[in-house]
Amino acid sequence: MGERKKGKKKKDERSIIHLGCERCSRRNYHTTKNKRNTPEKLALKKYCKWCRSHTIHREMKL
Ligand SMILES: [Zn+2]
Repeated sequence: MGERKKGKKKKDERSIIHLGCERCSRRNYHTTKNKRNTPEKLALKKYCKWCRSHTIHREMKL
C-alpha cells in the first residue's frame, strides 16, 4: 500500500527559485515555479526579518 507514486512522471518544468529582499538582498524565501506558466520574474511583497518590514522580494537564482 502506498508504494506507487501517483501519476505518470512528466518532465518537471518547475525550478526552485529564491526570493530575495530588494532592500538588503538577503534571500529569505524560496519557492518553485513553472517557467512555462510564469516566464516573467516574480516579485512579491514579503516580510524581511532583516529589514524588519515588508519589502519587495524578487526572484533570484540559486
Ligand atoms: Zn531585507
